[in-house]
Amino acid sequence: MANLDNLPPNQSDLLVAQDLTRHYQVSRGFMKGQATVKALNGVSFTLQPRKTLAVVGESGCGKSTLARQLTMIEPATSGVLSIEGVNVAQANHATVKAMRAKVQMVFQNPYASLNPRKTIAATLDEPLYINTSLSSAERKEKIDAIVQKVGLRPEHVRRYPHMFSGGQRQRIAIARAMILNPRIVVADEPVSALDVSIQAQILNLFMDLQEEFGAGYVFISHNLSVVEHVADDLMVMYLGAAVEYGSKNTIYARPLHPYTQALMSATPAIREEDRRLKIKITGELPSPLNPPSGCAFHKRCPYAVERCQQEVPLLRPIDDRLVACHRIEEIAA
Ligand code: SF4
Repeated sequence: MANLDNLPPNQSDLLVAQDLTRHYQVSRGFMKGQATVKALNGVSFTLQPRKTLAVVGESGCGKSTLARQLTMIEPATSGVLSIEGVNVAQANHATVKAMRAKVQMVFQNPYASLNPRKTIAATLDEPLYINTSLSSAERKEKIDAIVQKVGLRPEHVRRYPHMFSGGQRQRIAIARAMILNPRIVVADEPVSALDVSIQAQILNLFMDLQEEFGAGYVFISHNLSVVEHVADDLMVMYLGAAVEYGSKNTIYARPLHPYTQALMSATPAIREEDRRLKIKITGELPSPLNPPSGCAFHKRCPYAVERCQQEVPLLRPIDDRLVACHRIEEIAA
């Protein structure tokens, strides 16, 4: 995990995001002019090969906007997004096209993410056909190999998506993501649509493939139990910004930001010693169209004081991680 105040280009970093920001202009309504939705507000982090950064937070906290930036689906409003040393945040079409094969995505819903009219062979062939100069025989060889690696049988490639279970479809989606040997995989809630009994199998498959292919993962989830099994680093987001960022072990052992504490205390635990004191937060996530002044969390925070309404807290180091909170020394003590 890198210190965000001081992000020197590190040879081992696959991905460096610095102050990544995405704002949208939206209409307020007839004759009311435009408003700005601040979906992502200066997010910074790094990712190394064979490492997994988990991004967690409530729905609407900016996780999916971040995924769209990382996969270059849309440009950043400002900031740096460097993939293997190439800044793609505001890159031109040619650069984005050249870099796209390096970053692949696995979506939440394996039912919607596969084309129902295409066989699995055609689905897996498409990225190879578009992005490589492999012959048809070479592409077939690659398809057969990846199908085996994700735990499907060779004859499955002749079938259509509707002939598979949810878990099998997610295996196909993972095969499609991995077939180009990407450097980075962005997985947006990849197991939340699956039965609990299947989730562990898919998570294990993710981990096995990471070991084999050496890719870095950005794993987006609202479920802290899922993240605990896969993450190396953890970034907790609230209303478009990181509020706590550090190694997973450090944060799980002792969450410090009041929002992280509340999220973790709401996560069910089977073992008595893993259960945490319940911290209740009230109210809903504010709208990014009209964010609160000062600390975005102040209307829900049990520790809020007047300063929290006026000043935006910056991420700063404490106890081996970075936390954005004015009162973090008192809370940590
Ligand atoms: Fe709570 Fe204030 Fe810290 Fe924000 S800055 S988390 S409102 S104590």
